[in-house]
Amino acid sequence: MSKDIYTLEGQRIWVAGHRGMVGAALVRRLAMEGAEILAISRTGLDLRRQKDVEGWIAANKPDVVVLAAATVGGIGANAARPAEFLYDNLAIAQNVIDGSWRAGVERLLFLGSSCIYPKFAPQPIPESALLTGPLEPTNEAYAIAKIAGLKMVEAYRTQYGARYISAMPTNLYGPGDKFDEAAGHVAPSLMLRMVRAKLAGAPSVVVWGSGEPRREFLHVHDLAEACALMLRRYDESGPLNIGGGDEVSIRGLARTIARVVGYQGEIVFDASKPDGTPRKLLDSSRVYALGWRPNYELEAGLRDAYFWLQSQRSDLWDAACVA
Ligand code: GDP
Repeated sequence: MSKDIYTLEGQRIWVAGHRGMVGAALVRRLAMEGAEILAISRTGLDLRRQKDVEGWIAANKPDVVVLAAATVGGIGANAARPAEFLYDNLAIAQNVIDGSWRAGVERLLFLGSSCIYPKFAPQPIPESALLTGPLEPTNEAYAIAKIAGLKMVEAYRTQYGARYISAMPTNLYGPGDKFDEAAGHVAPSLMLRMVRAKLAGAPSVVVWGSGEPRREFLHVHDLAEACALMLRRYDESGPLNIGGGDEVSIRGLARTIARVVGYQGEIVFDASKPDGTPRKLLDSSRVYALGWRPNYELEAGLRDAYFWLQSQRSDLWDAACVA
């Protein structure tokens, strides 16, 4: 197993995007390393504004930057708002990466997504599959911005010797997720839809697409663990895939969520909605070699997300009692 090459204890770490699901999990995990966490809200700093970002980093002097800020969403949001997904994510990546280098930030971790790989990549997908074929059209804008970001990280390493790295996580879920049926990813969207259906006594719920696509899901706390390990142990060009290695069909996911939520109605599939890429299983052997393994099994992890939803959205249950 590999050894630590960098210590996070006592470092000033800026987690960009600390209010999001990934950023919030990273703040908790990196604080456990004894690091001092820096954070700035979206209203305090618009990451799309180059001058503001450069000024903020120069003034606050982090030692380490973790770039978890992004304009994100599920298959519906990506297809409806490609201009925002491309512009925002390109701007955020270039402003934060270049601003960090100018301010002398020692280490930077850029977070991407498994959608950077070609639609018909070999499964499980190795990092070497990058740019070997056309992308999945439903999330092309987001993918192009994330590919540009990881290439910037590589270019700053090549030209300036910056110790900057990238991670490409598989489909994530967990506490802090975007529970929004139209714009969210599949796991939180189906959970919310099934909670509403259960509370309303609805006989069926709709799941988009055929139910046949397969996805690999990772609890966000497992991702945060992998990120902490990468910052301590990884210092090479090229991204590392982060996935748990288990795949499930969307049909299987829907059944598992129904069990977690206690929804007993029928699950119907809406074939007019896009399936997206057929499979997206990552080959994560390189991050396993650093000593990382996920802890959460899917159903237990979804229960954790469900508890979080219950704690945050008591209005759903209150409204059902009144009705
Ligand atoms: P993707 O992995 O980039 O395709 O992201 P998503 O999490 O948005 O979608 C994953 C799969 O779940 C796709 O095949 C969707 O068609 C399917 N899916 C089924 N129901 C839903 C839903 O209510 N919302 C979303 N976002 N996806 C859904």
